[in-house]
Formats: sequence, structure tokens, C-alpha cells
Amino acid sequence: MATASSSIPQPRLPAATETVRRNRILSSKLYFDVPLAKVPVIYSPSYDIAFLGIEKLHPFDSSKWGRICQFLIKEGVLDKNRIVEPLEALKDDLLVVHSESYLASLKSSLNVSIIVEVPPVAFLPNWLVQKKVLYPFRKQVGGSILAAKLAKERGWAINVGGGFHHCSAEKGGGFCVYADITLCIQYAFVRLNISRVMIIDLDAHQGNGYEIDFSNDSRVYVLDMYNSQIYPFDYEAKRYIDHKVELVSGTKTKEYLEELDKALEVARNNFDPQLVIYNAGTDILDGDPLGRLKISPEGVAIRDEKVFRFAREKDIPLLMLTSGGYMKTSARVIADSITNLSKKRLIDMEVLQSRK
Ligand SMILES: [Zn+2]
Repeated sequence: MATASSSIPQPRLPAATETVRRNRILSSKLYFDVPLAKVPVIYSPSYDIAFLGIEKLHPFDSSKWGRICQFLIKEGVLDKNRIVEPLEALKDDLLVVHSESYLASLKSSLNVSIIVEVPPVAFLPNWLVQKKVLYPFRKQVGGSILAAKLAKERGWAINVGGGFHHCSAEKGGGFCVYADITLCIQYAFVRLNISRVMIIDLDAHQGNGYEIDFSNDSRVYVLDMYNSQIYPFDYEAKRYIDHKVELVSGTKTKEYLEELDKALEVARNNFDPQLVIYNAGTDILDGDPLGRLKISPEGVAIRDEKVFRFAREKDIPLLMLTSGGYMKTSARVIADSITNLSKKRLIDMEVLQSRK
């Protein structure tokens, strides 16, 4: 999800024992009961990062998440009152995956500035960085974790945020501060009683964070299709991808979708997941300065449709994260794609019971 290599190496500490991890997950409040009057679309106004001009310093459209919802609400696809607001992932929740030392490193504004690639953040007092940068991310992490529970209950869920696929337990980078995908899966293992998860990562960048975290875990199958000529060039993490499709800069829509068809076929034949996590970055769009691929807006909608069909045909719960996407047009394209999924009845935005 980012331009240059940037990460904070952390000493590898002994991992928390399974029992400690399990107890943290079981006592977490992030999995709460969502009334049927809500649709499984997760978002909070606090996802959006906009202060002191940070949104102008970074190519990231930091109000993307809110704009996606605004489009959907305005066009009558989504009812504002039916959106699910997640809780913030608190320290005990984050410790399920991250170490104390990694979380402590975020108390340095300099360290955070390196991860989010906004140098002026280094000069801000840390309380401000916590409030304006890290709190929004922790809300999005809460959303990614809750999305698995909702997907299991409803068949699908969309977190209109999250997808921080460059962050692993001990290392942030590429705008990714917390390992929401790893956290989401660890929670699902314990709380949803499942043991086979497939990650379909179609962001333009390689998802090196969770790849490192699940390097020796056969319960997680990774399909990663990315531009191999851009960040992060993580050759170690590549070894842990079950099925990788390496694209080159300039790949166009037709070839992209053909490669996707083939990749989904391989995944279908090799793994039988109980949950699919779809990392749906839109930095594959033609014109994106970081992704450097040439996929049309219609191509993105077709891509999303293919992944939803893949899961829904076999009744596999699917959750989607919006991940990278760096142009002002990304929000429009994502909203159009969600509208298309709704029209094709791959997702149902109507309430299950008629109580407003
Ligand atoms: Zn990306």
C-alpha cells in the first residue's frame, strides 16, 4: 500500500502463549451482537483522517472511507441508520498479535511518521498522533475483526476500511500500523470455531505482513496477485504465498481478469475455506501513482463480482476490506462496485426483518 520501503525492526520477543492469546480473544468486546436491523456494512466517521493538512501531504485519500458511504447513502443503496459502527481495538485486543514492544514503539511520533510515510507527523506531540492517526486506524481494526463475525452470521460483510496488509506482528510499514488481517483471523479461529481461512489479496501490492505472520500456518491459504515491480519487494514473505500471480506495471484489464479467473480456479481446487478474506485494494486502477497497473473502473467491479461469486457459490462467508487506493476517484469506484454487487444480488442490503 505504499511508495518506499519503511519499517521499524523490532526485536523478536517470545510470543504470548496460546492460552494468554485465547483468553484475550475470549474477553474482547470487539465481537458484539449486531441487531438484524443492521446490514453487514461496517464504518465509523472516525475512520477518516483529516487534520493539519496531512491529507494533502500523503497521496492517500484519507477521507476515502467516508466518501464511499456518502455515495452509497446518497444513491439510496445504503441506509445510514443500518451501518454497523465497530468498537476501537484496545491494547489488550492488539496484544493478541502485536508485542508490548511494538505497541510501545508507536508512542514515538517519529516511528509512526515512518510507517505512515508522512514526515511532518514526526514533529507532532504523540497525544495528537494517537488521537488523529492511530485512533482512526484502531477503529478500522475493530471493524476488520467484527467483519468476520458478521460474515459468518450473514454470509458476507464489508468493512469500509482496513486491509493493512503490510503490517505484521512485529513490523509496520507502507501506511499499515496494525496487522488487522492477522488479528481478524486469530479472532475467527477462536470465536468462530473455524480452522481454514483463505486470503484473496488483490491490492496492487504484495501482502507481506500477514504472509510473515502465517508463514508456518497451514490453516491459512494465501492467493496474492500483485504488481511485482513495486513496493514491498519482500522476498522472504513471497515464500509463504500459496498461489502467487506476479503482474508487471502496465497490465491491462483484460489480461488482469483472465489471470484472476485462472488464479481463482487454482485456489478453488487446492483449498476448502470456511472463511474468505478479500483484500480489495483499488490501487490497481489505471492512473494510480503507486499501483502502476491499468485496470478500468468497470474492471474493478468485475473483479469484485468474481470474488464474491467464488465465495457465495459455495456458501463460504466472505468479508471484504477496502485496503489501498490512492486516487480521489477510488471512493467512487468502490461505491459503484458495491452497488453492482447489490444489483447482482451477491449482497443483500435489505434488512432481514422489517423493523426500522
Ligand atoms: Zn496497495
